[in-house]
Amino acid sequence: MIKELETGHGTLKFPVYLPDGTRGVVRAVDSVDVANAGIEAMVVNTLHLSSKPGMTTLASMGGIHNFMGWDKPIISDSGGFQVFSMIVDSKLGSISPKGFSYSHTKGGKKKNLTPEKCIQLQFRIGADIIYCLDYCTHPEMDRATQLTSVDYTLKWAKKCKQEYDRQIKQRKSDRPRPLLFAVVQGGNDKDLRKRCAEELLEMGFDGFGFGGWPIQEDGTLTDMVAYVSELIPDSYPKHALGIGKPENLVAAFKAGYGIFDCVIPTRDARHKRLYTFKEDIKGMNMLNGDFYDYLYIHDDIHIKDSRPIDPLCDCLTNNHYSRSYLNHLFNINDHLAYRLATIHNLRFYSKLIEYLREHG
Ligand SMILES: [Zn+2]
Repeated sequence: MIKELETGHGTLKFPVYLPDGTRGVVRAVDSVDVANAGIEAMVVNTLHLSSKPGMTTLASMGGIHNFMGWDKPIISDSGGFQVFSMIVDSKLGSISPKGFSYSHTKGGKKKNLTPEKCIQLQFRIGADIIYCLDYCTHPEMDRATQLTSVDYTLKWAKKCKQEYDRQIKQRKSDRPRPLLFAVVQGGNDKDLRKRCAEELLEMGFDGFGFGGWPIQEDGTLTDMVAYVSELIPDSYPKHALGIGKPENLVAAFKAGYGIFDCVIPTRDARHKRLYTFKEDIKGMNMLNGDFYDYLYIHDDIHIKDSRPIDPLCDCLTNNHYSRSYLNHLFNINDHLAYRLATIHNLRFYSKLIEYLREHG
């Protein structure tokens, strides 16, 4: 695995975990909270940002970093996964070789997300790592769909690269160029995965992401996650998109991935579910064992509990407040509860990453 990657906003060290600042904010916390929790980069969502605040606002604010007050690396996703979900779940659009056509409501105004538009939007957002448009599938979809998914993903990647080259030529800015990543699709079909990876490698990208649903019914990673990593040389950064729970993050790390993003820790925090390490992580082997527990802070046992959430944690929440106080804040539904819980879960993930850097 490569150790680091230079970006327009500093060096990205691997492995790295990125929380999802989907709409330009990690919910309930600000950029200073995020940085203080040991987080070094974020993911933002192209489709959401293009609707609110909109590209003219972002551009007039000097791009996403300025807008959010975050001067560290940012990855923007392609928006393809959100559109695909809308189309599959609500039948609000269609997929063609040209890209996605969709609307937010039934009978609503049709919008297009083409490979070219996807790259143009991401240039305007101004992220340090941007993504090619891809056609995500669920592994249970039939082979014909998986085949189309790979065909379109390859076709779109080529168009994305052309548009990317065009944007770079036009650009007046002397900032470093954003890095362009592509996504390997192919469902559970090894031949399709191989074809997709090989053709993308031939086109030439700065890094690669694992695409498609990575989790099996029992909650563990599919074999495809490790297989795709084998197909990509270790000299490239590999992003395990959407992964994941702590044990799955560790499994994907062992399989060769260095970039992870996931909504789980921040969403769990808002649902009162907090992570704790089982023992001092310095002395434990996280690569093999189960190394953490959940704590449900709204449980009555915490009403008069003067202990911090996790005696091993060093986050703002732990250093200043008790389980009792956090239980109370959730009980009265004060906004501070969400902030303090989110800070703690982010620190749990950044500690996990620190451990993997040291012991991986
Ligand atoms: Zn903490």
